[in-house]
Amino acid sequence: MKAAVDGRLRLYPNPTAEPLRQKLARLHRCKPENIIVGNGSDELLALAVRAFVEPQAKPGRNVFLPGGRRRLSRSTVQYFTPSYSLYPVLADIHGALRNEVPLDMNFALPSHKGLRRAALWDERAALTFITTPNAPTGRGCTTDELDAVCRAALGVVVLDEAYADFAGENALQLALRHPHVIVSRTFSKAYSLCFQRVGYFIGHPKLIGALDKIRDSYNVNGLGQVGAEATLSDLPYYRRNFRQIISTRDKVTAQLVELGFIIIPSQTNFILVRPPRFSAELWYKKLRQKKVLVRWFPDPEVRSYLRITMGTPREMEQLIRVTKQILQAG
Ligand SMILES: *Cc1c(COP(=O)(O)O)cnc(C)c1O
Repeated sequence: MKAAVDGRLRLYPNPTAEPLRQKLARLHRCKPENIIVGNGSDELLALAVRAFVEPQAKPGRNVFLPGGRRRLSRSTVQYFTPSYSLYPVLADIHGALRNEVPLDMNFALPSHKGLRRAALWDERAALTFITTPNAPTGRGCTTDELDAVCRAALGVVVLDEAYADFAGENALQLALRHPHVIVSRTFSKAYSLCFQRVGYFIGHPKLIGALDKIRDSYNVNGLGQVGAEATLSDLPYYRRNFRQIISTRDKVTAQLVELGFIIIPSQTNFILVRPPRFSAELWYKKLRQKKVLVRWFPDPEVRSYLRITMGTPREMEQLIRVTKQILQAG
């Protein structure tokens, strides 16, 4: 990116991120027409709501059918809870209906049968978001589980794979197999490029084309395109990093289990843990006093958990040391 700071800065960037889309197409064994690049994947998630969901004619009025099913599926944005906090925001901005489907015990994806039984799941929702692996829980789901949910959906399904590089498997094939399924990826997390804002969707050319129509002409900045292309030229470096982070995650998980923490099995670069002895909120404060920053969310489903992001091995050793001190001080 430093090398690209030259006379190019006077010029508009490539409007369709063509070279980047070609590289991504080679990486994922698809065509550039299967790919749209955004100013971060957040931009593309917002475009998906605008392209695929009808705003409600009379906002705020939910119409229910027998069995609790809502009539206005064309206006419904559906997602599991807890998951990415942006989905309800996007639905509200658009004047869409939100259909929030609770995850199972320990934050697992409900089975296909379970979804059918739960009147809450709306197979006709215009747009369904599934974060996989999920945030803030860290849990992954198998491609077979996701395939079953995708097959049960009549609207568009976006599989938000922001953390896929830390997982054992990903569901990219579902986006290339099913015409109503999109996979979302980002350079922000595993590629450490969030400052530059580059993410992308992979899916059927018709869905990608619909998003392309409503995209701003120069939505992806030039240095962002340069940075994203550079990461793709150095994948072995990044893959070593992913392995390092996964091994740190598995080591920290084992150490915290030893100290009495309950851990949701993670497929991401963070873990969701239920701490012993004190409330999660108190743990958050005690750790903060000792200059260790973790996340605590006050939402009812996750308020007894902490989310711990993997830092360097040294930082994680410090977390374990401080955790032992807090437990000993009682
Ligand atoms: C971080 C994140 C995003 C957004 O990433 P950007 O590409 O930086 O916009 C989307 N979905 C999930 C689940 C995330 O955690």
